[in-house]
Amino acid sequence: MNLSQVRKMMLFTAEKMVESEPTLTSLDQIVGDGDHGIGMKRGFAAIIVLLQDEKFQPTNIGDFFIQIGTKLMTSMGGASGAIFGTLFRAGGKSITGVTEFDSNALSKLLNEGWQAVYQRGNAKPGDKTMVDALAASATTASVLTTLKLNDALPKIAQSAMEGAEKTKQMIAIFGRAKNLGERAIGHMDPGSVSMAYILKFMNEYIQ
Ligand code: ADP
Ligand code: MG
Ligand code: MG
Repeated sequence: MNLSQVRKMMLFTAEKMVESEPTLTSLDQIVGDGDHGIGMKRGFAAIIVLLQDEKFQPTNIGDFFIQIGTKLMTSMGGASGAIFGTLFRAGGKSITGVTEFDSNALSKLLNEGWQAVYQRGNAKPGDKTMVDALAASATTASVLTTLKLNDALPKIAQSAMEGAEKTKQMIAIFGRAKNLGERAIGHMDPGSVSMAYILKFMNEYIQ
């Protein structure tokens, strides 16, 4: 997929993320402070504006994702603004100069993004954060780099959703959910659902 196709895929994804606001809000009302849906909506609405602006002309796919990350970081706020911004900025940096987005590029983006998110926020798999979905997707992506993107992405997106589902059983150690202790059990972490949704919508676009 070339830069202009990636741009269309991320525009579709951003529109779907904005539509997901009520779901993400409900989840954060249970285990957090209720603002995750609003933050994601604000961030991805800003992405829509950016991608519809003809003056936005990134030089390559790496640069494209770096600028997506910067926009999320500066528009979203909250813990997740820094976290999702870091994911795309570091992920984009790892594919600097790339002009063809394939499953190898996606694997690099997810794996480098995961490392950067860990350095930024210290969350490991099992801590009930978006890292549970990100780590699962990155691990799957790294063994599917020889597949075509449209064959790899369904499996990568499915792994992310399974990672998000697993957060139901976890006790949080970050953010407000940590105050809930065992009462957070049975409820998914909102950020992990956002992470799974981003990959789900990217996949829906390319199928
Ligand atoms: P806030 O917690 O500031 O209200 P949001 O509600 O937008 O921010 O985002 C909460 C989400 O951020 C959580 O569901 C979790 O997935 C993610 N998150 C919080 N802290 C971390 C962290 N240290 N590392 C990774 N993700 C985190
Ligand atoms: Mg919140
Ligand atoms: Mg908050």
